[in-house]
Amino acid sequence: MGPEPMEYKELGATGVRLPVIGLGTWQYKGGVGPLREGIALGACLIDTAESYGTEEIVGKSLRGIRDQVFVATKISPRHFKHSDVISAADRSLQRLQIDHIDLYQLHWPNCAVPIDETMGAMEDLVDRGKVRFIGVSNFSLVELKQARAVLRKHSIVSNQVRYSLIDRSIEVRLLTYCRQNNITVIAYSPLARGIQNIKGRDPHGILSKVAAMTGKTQSQVALNWCISKSPVIAIPKSNSIGHVVENCKASNWRLSAGELRLLDEGIRFKRRGRAEAALRRAARCVGQKLGYIQ
Ligand code: NAP
Repeated sequence: MGPEPMEYKELGATGVRLPVIGLGTWQYKGGVGPLREGIALGACLIDTAESYGTEEIVGKSLRGIRDQVFVATKISPRHFKHSDVISAADRSLQRLQIDHIDLYQLHWPNCAVPIDETMGAMEDLVDRGKVRFIGVSNFSLVELKQARAVLRKHSIVSNQVRYSLIDRSIEVRLLTYCRQNNITVIAYSPLARGIQNIKGRDPHGILSKVAAMTGKTQSQVALNWCISKSPVIAIPKSNSIGHVVENCKASNWRLSAGELRLLDEGIRFKRRGRAEAALRRAARCVGQKLGYIQ
């Protein structure tokens, strides 16, 4: 029997279809094997970043199959000045051993560099054919609107943000805005950096109950819960082929409304309010302006 078919969602309004389960590579140590296995199963979106130290191994995993894979990487905030954006992209291209990045994402906002300067450089990269699509990561609703407002020719097609059963800060405002404006939400840490972290907030064992009801594993239920929201795709990271195979099978089936309700109501989650988010943003901003945070 061949692999179960992967489910896809459109990236923004680009016409490009992305798998709902991609492959994260932060702290990735699995070598080429798990990435190649994921790609073979349809998880043909790999997420990396200049700061992860995994662009080289991603590049190796692409050999001979570059055109089958959608490569997403990120630029660090310390490189947000115009000329730094261009040279950081060149370095990523070199490490990845490819001639264009499919999705180039600003890793975090940086209020020490004017957003129009950074976005101007990102648009230049698209015009030069080095980048296909522009994305952001960890942008609040306010920051996302500001970044969109300064773009002249191209659009922001995605925002990569933390989203899992136990961290639902993006729900309501950011998620709704992205849905309404054709911006794909790429959920990072969708397994909360380890399924035990979800179980620690699940006093009634709802996750294992829903897993038993559906005949799926707890990780598959947690991932399916994420991708059940309309603009959301997820990029779990795994060093093991077994886990990658398991995660790919989180696609192509649906939790019922009742199962979703059980998970929504039974698992304790955090949802940062506007005030807390604004405070964190302000603290980061001060740190960036003073040069403590890069
Ligand atoms: P995650 O994917 O939520 O969790 C990774 C952990 O879950 C690892 O310990 C992994 O262990 C384990 N795991 C994976 N599949 C499993 C399975 N089927 N059963 C049991 N355990 C499983 O956490 P994450 O790495 O933080 O997030 C995923 C990706 O999002 C990152 O790799 C990165 O690409 C991206 N990310 C982006 C940002 C950002 O600021 N934009 C921040 C964090 C992460 P094994 O390796 O042993 O399988």
